[in-house]
Amino acid sequence: MTEKTTQSVANLGYHAHIYYDPAKTRDVAQRVCAAIGEQFKVEIEEFRDTPRGPHPISNALVIFKPEEFERVVPYLMLNRDGLDVLVHPLTEDAVEDHSGYAIWLGNPVELKLHTLPRGRGGRLPSACEIATTLTPVRAPGSGTARPRRSVPTPPPERGTHATEHPEPAAIT
Ligand code: ZN
Repeated sequence: MTEKTTQSVANLGYHAHIYYDPAKTRDVAQRVCAAIGEQFKVEIEEFRDTPRGPHPISNALVIFKPEEFERVVPYLMLNRDGLDVLVHPLTEDAVEDHSGYAIWLGNPVELKLHTLPRGRGGRLPSACEIATTLTPVRAPGSGTARPRRSVPTPPPERGTHATEHPEPAAIT
């Protein structure tokens, strides 16, 4: 049954947004993220100390592939240390990802859904990004042979100051 569901709506991964208060619970969020990072195959992108995109509250972004869901989410259910967490998929509809498709651990936060595109949004797990963006057929030497999506969104490296440059892609 679960297989049927995931196939009917293509999902490329998940985000877990761990909400925190920069003045009070940033260290808690750091501990939670560190523990997740040690135990599971996830990418912890950054700590967003100011509201960004649809998120009205500071949050840390954890990115993972579909197959990690069954490990990461149950862990967060039991070990979120009182923090509220949004878990959303990465489908072709960012608005649905953050509303109808989303799950909350703790208390739901009202999101600014109008900031989201009706389309793909948000950074994918690294391997997925390779799988979905490195598919153009480019004959060597033939120059401009259909460079389909030749400029994929630059994967922000861990530790870079992503807040310093506004991202063209929607923040989700
Ligand atoms: Zn997200």
